[in-house]
Amino acid sequence: MTYRGRFAPSPTGALHFGSLVAAVGSWIRARSQNGIWLVRMEDLDPPREVPGAAAEILETLAAFGMEPDEPVKFQSRRESAYASAFARLDAAGRVFPCWCSRADLEASSGIHRTCVAAPEARRVPAWRLRAPDGAIEFVDAGFGPQAQNLRDVTGDFVIRRVEGGYAYQLAVVVDDAEQGITEVVRGADLLDSTPRQIHLQRLLGLPTPAYLHLPLVLDADGRKLSKQDRARAVDRTDPVPALRAALAFLGQRVPEAGTAERMLDAAAQAFDLAALRGEARKHACTIGQGPE
Ligand code: GLU
Repeated sequence: MTYRGRFAPSPTGALHFGSLVAAVGSWIRARSQNGIWLVRMEDLDPPREVPGAAAEILETLAAFGMEPDEPVKFQSRRESAYASAFARLDAAGRVFPCWCSRADLEASSGIHRTCVAAPEARRVPAWRLRAPDGAIEFVDAGFGPQAQNLRDVTGDFVIRRVEGGYAYQLAVVVDDAEQGITEVVRGADLLDSTPRQIHLQRLLGLPTPAYLHLPLVLDADGRKLSKQDRARAVDRTDPVPALRAALAFLGQRVPEAGTAERMLDAAAQAFDLAALRGEARKHACTIGQGPE
């Protein structure tokens, strides 16, 4: 089976060093497997998006020598696919409408098990998926064996938001399946979203891809870099220094300087999963297990 990987940025700002690491990690992994590399624009949340950011991200990727093998998919154009997945979950009795306010949720210590608010005819509900009780297990190629009980850690989670838009957890599962992704390579901030995604894949009868989470780039205060915090954009006019830094961050041997394209090709040829795992372990990251 041909390896198919992807990079799935949200266009909330220009590409910063943290997202460059995710792009480079997914690209060299895909190429090391003689695989296909795709880009999906996760533009599902208009208020957080910055006009022009999607085009800017694609131009920056190109300047670094990373061109997707198939046309870029935009989540904003995929609403009907999410609606039909949602309809199937609804028909199977897996979802329920929820009118809980933020205060109601805080009172339930953030773990949502049941809607405590009365239905309000005039207010639109969010829709939650019932969380199963029992560990969802998977082996991450970077961080090793993982287990999470969704009932205890996330509770019933939102798959359709109050404004009517579909949530990331549902969209990502529908799109990874539709694009035939065989391995998801992304930042470790999404390690703890993976059990929710695996659960949704099982309910929808979709295949579960392999997962490889990458060590996360943190700022000086130990927080994840965020495009919205205006984390400094990488310099697309001079890609080599940032590319060297990204490869070093992933524990990869940094090829001799050349063009970005040649460095990426060399890094893919020499891709070293064990070294990447070593970096992942240094940035130890575990997902919530819920009470023992
Ligand atoms: N769009 C997400 C982000 O930019 C990544 C989603 C994913 O790779 O599954 O953080």
